Amino acid sequence: MILIVAEHAGGKLAKSTLEMVTAARDSGREGPVTLLVLGQGVAGVANEAAAVADQVLVGDLPALATYNAEVWAAATAQIAREGEATTVLIGGSRSGREYAPRVAVKLDAPYLEDAIRLSASGDALQAQRYTYLARVTETVEASGPVIVVTVKPGSFAAASAAAQPGEQYDVELELPTPRVEVTGRSVEKTSRVALTEADVIVTGGRGVGNPENFTTYVEGLADAIGAGVGATRAVVDAGWRPYAEQVGQTGKTVQPGAYIALGVSGAVQHLSGMGKSKNIIAINKDAEAPIFKVADYGIVGDVNVIVPALIEAARK
Ligand code: FAD
Repeated sequence: MILIVAEHAGGKLAKSTLEMVTAARDSGREGPVTLLVLGQGVAGVANEAAAVADQVLVGDLPALATYNAEVWAAATAQIAREGEATTVLIGGSRSGREYAPRVAVKLDAPYLEDAIRLSASGDALQAQRYTYLARVTETVEASGPVIVVTVKPGSFAAASAAAQPGEQYDVELELPTPRVEVTGRSVEKTSRVALTEADVIVTGGRGVGNPENFTTYVEGLADAIGAGVGATRAVVDAGWRPYAEQVGQTGKTVQPGAYIALGVSGAVQHLSGMGKSKNIIAINKDAEAPIFKVADYGIVGDVNVIVPALIEAARK
């Protein structure tokens, strides 16, 4: 089987999980696409998972109430071993990249990190990943009875529901007592859709001018159309916006239905994080800005003039 460890939050399956299902189906690896749902009170998540997978394995336990690397690694390795998984896909999130190498060690398996494409070649699995500031895409290959892979979020299209929902099974897990404990957590309060979940993203770059304009134009337009907010590294480095909003090679990779770039030049490191968006709409006063080379729609003009008109139109 191809085992995918489901990522979920707030009782909902994360988009990254749907992307991993596509990665699994496109990989050419054989076996049922199996989602492993770990957590407490995850019946709703398991039902969502069943809509896209061939089968769903559910570990619903108080000990799984919060993510812990030691526990997730032990549970994943146990299920991979028992199910004779040939491939284990784990989200390339911060936590996924934390426990995936542990799973590989437990299974004595090769580990492919940050895959943006997967293809089977005989018994081997080939993965593409970015390197050298995303200027180079390299292909790496691993073989063995089982291969552990992390999948870069935003690199595959989200899977849609299968014709038949997959069967669900409860699993019994032997979990270790974790030696590291999360002792506190403060969650940013926002009603806005998370960047990696958003189907429409409005991103602001240095051309927006200053932090106040960012709030007025970028957040204003995003809120008017129900979009997520992104930022370039230039504005994050300038302290206008938090790192969590950064899109690009050293930030998040996104693939929304529409990506609206305001005052963004389109540097290669930015493009590597959003270049696969289905529709790219750019507003930039410089007709030669590289963003227009990838844009589906472009407006050459001043954000100070165009964006207020867009917000007004959207509000109407
Ligand atoms: P600029 O390049 O300064 O572009 C501003 C644009 O706004 C210009 O095109 C200008 O014509 C336009 N403009 C100005 N005024 C107006 C106006 N009034 N109306 C309309 N348009 C206007 N960058 C990222 O974004 N994400 C990353 O993850 C990332 N990682 C990096 C990693 C490395 C190792 C390195 C070296 C760089 C990385 N960068 C990253 C930085 C990247 O190279 C660029 O410097 C950055 O993306 C530029 O941001 P920007 O488009 O906001 O600013």
